[in-house]
Amino acid sequence: MRYPTRKLFHGLHLASAVVCLSGFLVLSPGGGAWCQSPEPRNDSLKRTEAAIRDEFQHKGPFSVITVGTGAPRYSPERSGPCALVHYKGHYFIVDMGNGTQARLHQANIRLGNLEAFLFTHFHLDHSEEFIPLLINAWLQGQDNLKIIGPPGVKEYHAFLLSFYKDDIAYRARRTGRPVGKIRDIGIRELTGEETFELSGVSVRSIEVPHTVYTLAYRFDAEGESIVISGDLTYSENLIRLAKGADVLVMDSGGYIRAKKQGAPRRERPPRRSGGGNKAQVRAHPSLKEIATMASKAGVKKLVLTHFAPGVIDKEATSRAIRQTFKGEIVFGEDLMEVVP
Ligand SMILES: [Zn+2]
Ligand SMILES: [Zn+2]
Repeated sequence: MRYPTRKLFHGLHLASAVVCLSGFLVLSPGGGAWCQSPEPRNDSLKRTEAAIRDEFQHKGPFSVITVGTGAPRYSPERSGPCALVHYKGHYFIVDMGNGTQARLHQANIRLGNLEAFLFTHFHLDHSEEFIPLLINAWLQGQDNLKIIGPPGVKEYHAFLLSFYKDDIAYRARRTGRPVGKIRDIGIRELTGEETFELSGVSVRSIEVPHTVYTLAYRFDAEGESIVISGDLTYSENLIRLAKGADVLVMDSGGYIRAKKQGAPRRERPPRRSGGGNKAQVRAHPSLKEIATMASKAGVKKLVLTHFAPGVIDKEATSRAIRQTFKGEIVFGEDLMEVVP
């Protein structure tokens, strides 16, 4: 069933103003100004009407779209890691891999609707389209931009402003967009377990083990919950964060690839990363670890993502996970929308 976006957008401005005012109070100091002064109503209405014409038709008011389900190696079938959390017309993008803009365009999701940019970690495949996405969200009229992630987000934003200073000034002149709307935005660096609010959604972060500092996120709205694991290995923190969650979007780690006919099937060894053979550390979970985390957390839907190019043996992968996890297993595809 399609969710009536038109109805939803009518209440949006009042609702977001209320949320903006109340949300501001719960954000910690140092996070910067998250709320901007309201834009002139006519401009905002015009944009809303334009958005309604081509808007992505959501299955529900709260959902996650697996925009990109790929991995670092390029694949035309799977774009780089990206999940888009949607709540009543507000969009929070988690990671921005290669191909994110193309996929959003394909789904008729305007970049100007992107409100918060969240990073799980600063591996290139999770962050490489951040700069064009942020600049285009600004150019397309987003006046409430926020950037959230591990320490480094402030530096990334400062680099963007400094390196593209002339480009930003040029585009501001051409479009009339105020430079302040991309310069003076809410930036929040997270170190471990923190809770804050984004336009009516409660967000919680927690550190998970990976080869660089990495965060997992939980989004709660109206009694429903969506968790995005980030890249990780086995993590008790993740189990705590995902406790009772409706949806867990999870690093697929050692999923099983389809073999050519006659060849034996076996689980891929968990991927590793790091410099040199001896220095390598595990970067991703085994199927047993995925199943144990999902099972201990008691999640309802486990959505697997982060697949390398090639064919997945879904049957064998599911069978291995089912030995421990009894909930629903979903193999993520690009632009698949999952509702709690
Ligand atoms: Zn990574
Ligand atoms: Zn990754």
